[in-house]
Amino acid sequence: MKNKMTNHEKYMTEAIKQAKKAYALGEVPIGCVIVYRDRIIGRGYNRRNTDKNTLAHAEITAIRKASKIIGDWRLEECTLYVTLEPCQMCAGAIVQARIPQVVMGTMNPKAGCGGSILNILEMPQFNHQVEVTRGVLEEKCSSMLKEFFKELRERNRMEKLWKRAQNESAEAATQEEKAKLVPIDKTESNTVY
Ligand SMILES: [Zn+2]
Repeated sequence: MKNKMTNHEKYMTEAIKQAKKAYALGEVPIGCVIVYRDRIIGRGYNRRNTDKNTLAHAEITAIRKASKIIGDWRLEECTLYVTLEPCQMCAGAIVQARIPQVVMGTMNPKAGCGGSILNILEMPQFNHQVEVTRGVLEEKCSSMLKEFFKELRERNRMEKLWKRAQNESAEAATQEEKAKLVPIDKTESNTVY
């Protein structure tokens, strides 16, 4: 890349690095970093299936780590970068943590709560509103997700084919067994009548 990256792009690139860790585990690739005074103080990536834990979202992990570094539940001078629009839980946690700024990669029309289904981050009724920037390195963030789901569909398709092949061979074996039984059945019924 010849153009100089903006700060947002620089940190979104770090969030993408986190997302790739999720990808490598077979998890939906979502990554997050939290920046404080130009320094990353929290990183996280989706580990929901690996940890078998609803709370193992990228943002929650990053918030937990950042709070540990800051020594407070309030992350008042931080910016959170996340590759995908946060869900209701994470958007809620961002508001709860008083994070003033969130930068997103791509939107999540089916589950996002940073403007898609709800906009928990910018609700005037809450005592805290977040300044939101959307679409930073959007193409990179969304193509990573598309690639993941394409591979997942392919894997599921192969699994189905494999199962069907196994069922068919089991079925064929049963048919063969049945075929062997037919003459015996016939003999028996002949004897009876
Ligand atoms: Zn979430």
